[in-house]
Amino acid sequence: MKAVVYRGGGARAGLVDVDLAPPRAGEVEVEIAAAGVCHSDLHVVRGEWAVPTPVVLGHEGSGVVSAVGEGVADLAPGDHVVLSWVPNCGECRPCLAGRPAQCVVAATVTAPKGVLFDGTSRLSAGGEQLYHYLAVSSFAERVVVPASGAIKVRDDAPLDTIALVGCAVATGVGSVRNTAAVEAGATVAVIGCGGVGLSCVQGARLAGAERIVAIDLVQSKLDLALGLGATDALAGGAGAVERLRELMPEGVDYAFDAIGRIETTEQAIEMLALGGAAVVVGLPPTGSRASFDPLVLAEADQRILGSNYGSVVAHRDVPALVDAYMDGELRLDPLVSGRRPLAEAPQALEDLAGGEVLRQLLVP
Ligand SMILES: [Zn+2]
Ligand SMILES: [Zn+2]
Repeated sequence: MKAVVYRGGGARAGLVDVDLAPPRAGEVEVEIAAAGVCHSDLHVVRGEWAVPTPVVLGHEGSGVVSAVGEGVADLAPGDHVVLSWVPNCGECRPCLAGRPAQCVVAATVTAPKGVLFDGTSRLSAGGEQLYHYLAVSSFAERVVVPASGAIKVRDDAPLDTIALVGCAVATGVGSVRNTAAVEAGATVAVIGCGGVGLSCVQGARLAGAERIVAIDLVQSKLDLALGLGATDALAGGAGAVERLRELMPEGVDYAFDAIGRIETTEQAIEMLALGGAAVVVGLPPTGSRASFDPLVLAEADQRILGSNYGSVVAHRDVPALVDAYMDGELRLDPLVSGRRPLAEAPQALEDLAGGEVLRQLLVP
């Protein structure tokens, strides 16, 4: 099959011939319908995150199950699925506590080691082993993933759109509903209006937030945020905190950093009202350090929360988000900047880095 491989060291990713071994016990093979291009792929090709290479990129996607390994009872060929980049073992402490987005095996094996649950890879090229990216590697014609990373969804939903639910939408909406548990009537700021940030805006609207302030450097993204439920829009960058305080002198109950830069994380904390919570959703390069004033944090009774994958319970949240899309409550189509062939993945990554595009979908 064809897949997009990044060989490390700043080399440009490229479409090459890749061998995919059949699914082993507890795994499924999925024919990819669409794969979204995310900043977490960009971090890898920019060398900002160390992952084992050579690696098949991509961690957001959708498709149709084409084969199942031994012992897989809840999926069958023909099932429509959205891929999750936090497959869960079901047996570790967080999994048993109902917090599968914190799965210890996903955090210590699949994500850092680039392999599947049994510690091995199904990907190779000319006899050379390739690594999986976040147990997904969706920039490919087919994937083999842990069965828990393939979430069955209704088969009347358009696969080339709902791919987005697998990362951007689950992360953004989940950070609002699950991590922060934003309540009706709350005030919210969202810094960064890309695929994740616009999903935070929509999550806040669905939660019944009274004020939703969208903040971005790009006017077209602010216009889109206003169309998706934001009540106010402000220019991002230097001075964003002062602009927010002009609009809302007391600050906001919840501030989401959907970018993950040191400055935006610090701005989110500084935008908080008394009792507010800042939520770090966007992911920075490895080793970033942000600062805050602990005296203010304590006296103002504030919180700083990290949100991994929107704290999702994928098997509960992903089908529900697809339903919300099909019911018209959640809008996905405005988040799609375009659909491109797999071979254009390197250009799509460069376009994402340019800051103007939202979600681009690669269609094998
Ligand atoms: Zn992502
Ligand atoms: Zn687990």
